[in-house]
Amino acid sequence: MCKNIPIGTELKCELCGTSFLNFSNSKPRSYCSDNCKDFMKFKNAMERNLLKIDFQGKTANQIKGDLFRVANLIKCN
Ligand SMILES: [Zn+2]
Repeated sequence: MCKNIPIGTELKCELCGTSFLNFSNSKPRSYCSDNCKDFMKFKNAMERNLLKIDFQGKTANQIKGDLFRVANLIKCN
């Protein structure tokens, strides 16, 4: 059962912890911004798909290195 949260209630982003106000009568947002929402959507899709693949030995290490390289491409202010 979904609990209604009154409009104007302060919520916290599930990703970054930033506070924001609820503007929905139905389902409240979980994230403060499109950046946080999109990041979680893409990260969850990547996890779901990567876990389906059975990588072996040397290839697994190469892929872990590639994922580390991708993580370093994320822009930080
Ligand atoms: Zn956020």
